[in-house]
Order: sequence, then C-alpha cells, then structure tokens
Amino acid sequence: MDTGQCVHCGLCLSVCPTYQETGLEAESPRGRVFLLEHVRENPASLNASAMKALDDCLDCRACESVCPSHVATGHLVEQWRAESAVRLQEEGPEAMRLFRRVSRPLTFFLGSPRGLKWFQRLARLSQKPLVGRWVTRLRFVPPAAEGLVRGLPAQIPRTLSRVRRPRNHPPGARRVMLFVGCIMDTVYADTNQHTQDLIEMGGVGVVIPEEQRCCGALHMHGGAPEVTKRWAQENIAAFEASGAEAVVVNAAGCGAMLKEYAELFDPEDAWYERAKRFQSAVVDATVFLADLSLPEIPPTERAVTVHDPCHLAHAQGIRQEPRRLLRQAGYVIHEMPDSDRCCGSAGIYNLTHPEMAQRLLERKVEDIPRDVEWVAAANPGCLMHIQSGLAQQPQLPPAVHPLDLIWQAYHRAGLITND
Ligand code: SF4
Ligand code: SF4
Repeated sequence: MDTGQCVHCGLCLSVCPTYQETGLEAESPRGRVFLLEHVRENPASLNASAMKALDDCLDCRACESVCPSHVATGHLVEQWRAESAVRLQEEGPEAMRLFRRVSRPLTFFLGSPRGLKWFQRLARLSQKPLVGRWVTRLRFVPPAAEGLVRGLPAQIPRTLSRVRRPRNHPPGARRVMLFVGCIMDTVYADTNQHTQDLIEMGGVGVVIPEEQRCCGALHMHGGAPEVTKRWAQENIAAFEASGAEAVVVNAAGCGAMLKEYAELFDPEDAWYERAKRFQSAVVDATVFLADLSLPEIPPTERAVTVHDPCHLAHAQGIRQEPRRLLRQAGYVIHEMPDSDRCCGSAGIYNLTHPEMAQRLLERKVEDIPRDVEWVAAANPGCLMHIQSGLAQQPQLPPAVHPLDLIWQAYHRAGLITND
C-alpha cells in the first residue's frame, strides 16, 4: 500500500465527500496523495494549509472502493495522523487540538467497565432537558456534542451488555465471542442483546468476556495509536481465553478496526502473529447471521431504507448481507441514492469538524425516501449522527440498527422470546 501507485486518473474525485463539498483539489483523494508524497520527501513543507487538507479527510475510504490502483488514501491519511500526532496536537488545526482536550476523559470512559458505567450514566442524564444542558457544557465536552445528544436513543439501558449472563449452550455447540464495543455496550446495549438472541436462534452459543475493551478506533482516528495498541492486546487476550471460534461484531467502525489489528504491531513483535490470528477470526454480525440460514418471514409492506456505513461498505466490502437479512425478516427495502456516501459522523469527525459534518448530514437526510418507516444503519456513530438530523423533523423516520429491526420481526413472529 503506497502513494506511489497513484496514476492521477482522478476516478476517486467523484466519490470523495470533501471534494464534492468544496471542489478543491487539495480536499480530494488525489490531492491528499500528492500532499502525503510531498510531505514524506520534504517534511518541512508541512504547513498549516497542508495539515488542514489532510486533517479534513473523513477516513471514509470511499476513494479506496473505486481506485483502480488500490491506493488506500483514507488509510494512509490515518497512518500519517497517528505518526504526526504530537505535532498535530500542538500546531495542527483546531480539530486536532480538540482531540487532545477530550482524549483523557475519553480514555477513562471507554477504557474499562467502570468508565463505561459512568459514560452510560452521563448519557442517561443528558436526556433530561435541564441536566442535558449541564452535561453538554462540561469543560471537556466539545460544543458539537449537543447534536449527538439529540441523536441518542429514547431509552438508554441501565446496565452494560457485557454483564449479561450467558445462556447455557448444548455441549459441543459452536461458540462465538460477541464483541460488545463501548458505545454499543452502553447506549445500544439492547442491540447487543438482540444480536446475541439472533445468533442463539441460529443454534450458536455466545460468550461475552467482561475483560474485552473498546476497539480503539476513536483513538486511532484522533492520533493516539498507543491507546489503541494497549486495548488491542487486551481484546486479543480476551478472545484467546474465551475458546470461541470467531469474534462477532455488530458495529461497522469497530469491525474495520479489529480487522486491522496486526498493523499496530511490528512483524518482529510476538503480538503480531496473535493479532493476525485474531483479525482473521473477526466477522461482521450480518455476515455471520446471513450464513446461519435464519427462518424466512413472509414479506410485509413495512419499508426500510439502508444507509451503508463507510466502514462496512468501503472498508469491509459488506453491502448485501444487511439487506438480505432484512428481506428474510419480511421487510421491503426502498433504496436511497448514494447510500454509501459518508453521513459526516466518521468517528469523532462530527465533533472535530462540525461544519463539514453538518453539510454531509443535511445531504444524507435529503436523500432519505419519505415513504419508509426506518433508516437502518449498522454503526453507532452513523445512528446517532443521522438521528440528530432526523430528530429535527418529526415527520421523518427514526434511525435504527438493522439487527434491531430483524430481532423485532422474529419477536413479533414468536420465534424469539424475552426470557
Ligand atoms: S483513483 Fe487512485 S490512482 Fe486514480 S487519482 Fe485517485 S488515488 Fe490516484
Ligand atoms: S477517505 Fe473519504 S474523505 Fe478521505 S480522501 Fe478518501 S473519499 Fe475523500
């Protein structure tokens, strides 16, 4: 993977959201490849405008899906961000300085079950109107977090999904580890529970090791790879101790990060081979469930549109399985245009680059068909960001995880019970 493979054909320009919005070559994949090459040959040339153009990249990886030379621009920008973290956080655009401000509390909240419990309490508190205003004004909370609070689900569970007692599995049954994440473990704990129920309905046992950590994607986006590396080691060890055959994950951003763990380690490091084994065991929940041949439910008229999260469609090449499972559960799909164009969430991009994130959100909301009951998105960041836009227009449908819809269909059909 190298910038040198770029043949400057420009095919990537038409799919790059920041180029579409600005029309500037520097804000395009081709422009960023040029900047990365230039900066590598002459590090002193990294001036403020070059830093900004690189830092404005969403890491949505849409360019990677169309590039005939397989240039991984989004990925290369992320590597550059991690390598230049210290300099960026001191001299870089406001966005990177902001990450330095939130990185400590973020590491506390996401780095342990105790921190996650606090995060869950704060998320619940933020939904109470007066307290919500207070929570969003805490010193470390970026102003743009107000929009995210608007996008939180109406009911946030009280307990983490990782403390849920595993069900008994028949001896010899297949067993997988459910990767519960951080935002999914707290704000979307019900979705984790639904994922577990669906896997068990397919005849496979689920284990949820309490020792697992956040995948580290947010820290990787923000340029703090040392935290990502530490949590990667804990996740690898938790999987190895679980005896499970696979790591099933229902959040696109986490899945993409977990599948790239080996890149965090030097090939000489003993962790490298362990990370390679781990990442080859990672599978997206929709892909895993599509292989289990769940029962067919007769089609209904209930319509849903699907937003393809960048880290599912572009980073993992998964587009069909969520649709196949929804149809199997009786839903009809009304497609939106450019369903795989970034919604502007992009890790912490909506906090660090609120203006561009808002422009992309408005385009996404405009594209949603008006005759559907739900917008399905298999990633917590997209869910909150899209919902923050939908919540401002009551006539628009809510954003939900596709596995919640699928679970509801099987529950209505009496194929899953609440026990
Ligand atoms: S599509 Fe690939 S080869 Fe063509 S300009 Fe973009 S990065 Fe370069
Ligand atoms: S990753 Fe996304 S924002 Fe960044 S250059 Fe590629 S298409 Fe543009």
